[in-house]
Amino acid sequence: MILLELKDVRKSYGYDENKVNAINHIHLTIDEGSFVAIIGKSGSGKSTLLHVMGGLTKPQQGTVLLEGNSLYDMSDDQLSRYRRRRMGFVFQFYNLISSLNVLENIVLPIHLDHLKEDKEYIDELLEFLDLKEKETAFVRELSGGQQQRVAIARALAMKPAIILADEPTGNLDAKSSQEVVTLLKLSQRRYKQTLILVTHDEMIASQAERIITISDGEIVSDTNEK
Ligand code: ADP
Ligand code: ADP
Repeated sequence: MILLELKDVRKSYGYDENKVNAINHIHLTIDEGSFVAIIGKSGSGKSTLLHVMGGLTKPQQGTVLLEGNSLYDMSDDQLSRYRRRRMGFVFQFYNLISSLNVLENIVLPIHLDHLKEDKEYIDELLEFLDLKEKETAFVRELSGGQQQRVAIARALAMKPAIILADEPTGNLDAKSSQEVVTLLKLSQRRYKQTLILVTHDEMIASQAERIITISDGEIVSDTNEK
């Protein structure tokens, strides 16, 4: 089953002589339940591609279908709600709110939609991410590895169909990095999620089932298309 499909996608920044095609001519399908790594040099377009896949950046050209829904044909409100329900984002800089505690950070997106969290599942996540004792701690009291695990819990709290991770290990030492990837992989397997991970770390990319390499905004290799 195809989860995500990109058809002839282009996103550029700037105008006229300053115009840069961050990504261009992107045709791609991603299967439900797969683990895909996107690699490439700095500035090659990895983040842009991930943001376009996740409904965060509207491309100038092309179509992005998630579960058959054309993301950029939705209204902003529809898209935000769809994102919070079906997608989990993990970023390099965690993007946590320092004035809130661990649990409050995790349930914030759910409360934004006036939904009720699944308490048992959140408990399971805290256990699984080894954060149970930190539930009421402020995020600024946590180590980098722990903060990233909180961000992962927040991303997983709605049991998303797709996890989009943008250099999630970029700020972590080797040990914490491996831990974060292991946890993402475990969740992916356990809940049959699709995991798309942008990284410049080859050790991490090599753990994916499929590796897509981009260079100058275009796909230059894809282990699915040998
Ligand atoms: P990567 O994630 O591989 O480092 P990016 O997707 O961040 O690559 O960037 C791809 C290209 O698009 C780069 O040339 C970058 O400078 C440019 N770019 C990305 N975001 C913006 C932006 N908000 N405004 C202008 N240019 C941008
Ligand atoms: P990790 O292996 O998860 O990155 P660290 O070895 O960095 O963890 O941190 C060990 C312990 O020190 C953790 O329990 C964490 O709560 C605590 N700690 C780390 N950084 C800080 C900080 N800036 N303020 C308070 N406690 C911290």
